[in-house]
Amino acid sequence: MKDRLQELQSEALEKVKYAEDLKALQDIRVAYLGKKGPITEVLRGMGKLSKEERPVIGQLANDVRESIASAIQTKQDKLEEEALEKQLEEESIDVTLPGRPVHVGGPHLLTSIIEEIEDLFIGMGFEIKEGPEVETDYFNFEALNLPKGHPARDMQDSFYITEELLLRTHTSPVQARTMKQKDGHEAVRMICPGKVYRRDTDDATHSHQFTQVEGLVVDENIKMSDLKGVLNAFAKQMFGSERDIRLRPSFFPFTEPSVEMDISCKMCGGEGCSVCKGTGWIEILGAGMVHPNVLEMAGYDPEVYSGFAFGMGPERIAMLKYGVDDIRHFYTNDIRFLKQYHKV
Ligand SMILES: [Zn+2]
Repeated sequence: MKDRLQELQSEALEKVKYAEDLKALQDIRVAYLGKKGPITEVLRGMGKLSKEERPVIGQLANDVRESIASAIQTKQDKLEEEALEKQLEEESIDVTLPGRPVHVGGPHLLTSIIEEIEDLFIGMGFEIKEGPEVETDYFNFEALNLPKGHPARDMQDSFYITEELLLRTHTSPVQARTMKQKDGHEAVRMICPGKVYRRDTDDATHSHQFTQVEGLVVDENIKMSDLKGVLNAFAKQMFGSERDIRLRPSFFPFTEPSVEMDISCKMCGGEGCSVCKGTGWIEILGAGMVHPNVLEMAGYDPEVYSGFAFGMGPERIAMLKYGVDDIRHFYTNDIRFLKQYHKV
């Protein structure tokens, strides 16, 4: 009996030693220590033993049982630890690997420029106004002193939807709409940025869709010097305090007198170079004193009220400010172009 127990012990311990997983260990536990196992069987046969032998064998059986149980427990701890280590190793993160770059977007250059223009004019007490891109012939042309058949309409060949509806060719109708809203007796000081459309053939400086920012001031006693002061402040803040401006006579049907504003060339400082075509000046925008007919059509008495208006192209501003050489860069969504200006 003693031999049998010792045999069972070494057999079980050997199996525990080579058990490869927890399932195998559990099988060994059931096989050797279970109620139907060989040790239990040995113990059942103890009745046949002599009084002297019984405690000896009983003690031995318990020792064998304990040594197998403790070997199983030790092995189980070891297997569990190994499994945990394996799992940790598989799930570990190599913090020395370079990370994947996160692509951060940014506003489109045109959006940035328009926001910059807005900020400048808000700083001078202007409000921002918007209007519809599908406009009536009346607001797009007639209310701006461009009656049907006026030759200046040819300069703004448009996309007509019906005889009376078109895609607006400038943001000026927002000026007419704003004046109408104010009912002919409230002062106006606003700019209106937005998309406009013309039937142009796309090239490096023309696009059938582009953006404009127009501005309008109407009040009592508004003079040409007010126009010059506001535009001078704008030009210096946008392009740098060292830039000068000049006003040249021009023609727009909705202003009288009308001017074009130039800024001094940055490249040559006014000496004349290839960028400014030898003149020392670069054209920036058009402006003028609001035509009395326009004031009158909007309900303002031109004897009491006067005003000035101006219009600029954010594309042109951006091209001059950042040296962009082709207007089509703004619309073709080439990320390599757009990315350069994300921190602007
Ligand atoms: Zn120059």
